[in-house]
Amino acid sequence: MAGLNVIMMGPPGAGKGTQATRFARERALLKISTGDILREAIREQNPIALDAKARMDRGGLVDDETMIAIVRERLLRPDAAPGFVLDGFPRTVTQARALDQIIGERDNGPLVIVDVVVPEEELVRRLAGRRICSKCGVNADPFGGGSECIKCGGELVQRVDDNKDIVLERLKVYTRATRPVLEYYRERPTFRVVNGAQAPERVAHELDTMIDDAVNVGAAILRTGQ
Ligand code: ADP
Ligand code: ZN
Repeated sequence: MAGLNVIMMGPPGAGKGTQATRFARERALLKISTGDILREAIREQNPIALDAKARMDRGGLVDDETMIAIVRERLLRPDAAPGFVLDGFPRTVTQARALDQIIGERDNGPLVIVDVVVPEEELVRRLAGRRICSKCGVNADPFGGGSECIKCGGELVQRVDDNKDIVLERLKVYTRATRPVLEYYRERPTFRVVNGAQAPERVAHELDTMIDDAVNVGAAILRTGQ
């Protein structure tokens, strides 16, 4: 069976991480979130990640070379063979080109790209209210209201880069570096757009339908060898 390969695109706060996690779980795919990988590596005091931390805290991007190496290593692992869901990568056109090359080496199924679209005022509002666990890093339920992590009991805190000024910087970086990635993909027959400003279950339902449709389209193109 051909792999199911999905990229979840969208600005910070669009909810792509939540949707990527759910979709990967339901379809038993490997989820690769580059933000989570970096934060985890920082907790483990990995020297390269500690180097990247200053840039992350300011809302900037980590260098392409480091990010491409991380993603390449994960995608070529055997547990990525059934497919993957990428969250947070590619964030630059250089990363997108490198990803095309890695996908070519894997030679396993079409690549589906979904753009989760949310208006900027809504993004700022969501990020201001977001809390994560200080111990295990998991996102808290935005409607939960508790002060402790439901997974490990750790204290819920604001992510350093969810501070108002840093959020505005991240949105600027998104527009400058990552919007061009959407243009890089937009003309592909497997590119889809979903309205992320709806209830999460609604977004989930639309995503499921459009990803299945795009996979069929992409698989047909691969079969006929165009
Ligand atoms: P967001 O909530 O903005 O989607 P993430 O958790 O995906 O945040 O990423 C947090 C930070 O990690 C980014 O602001 C950036 O500094 C760094 N980062 C994550 N993925 C990448 C990437 N592909 N390229 C460069 N930097 C990245
Ligand atoms: Zn926790």
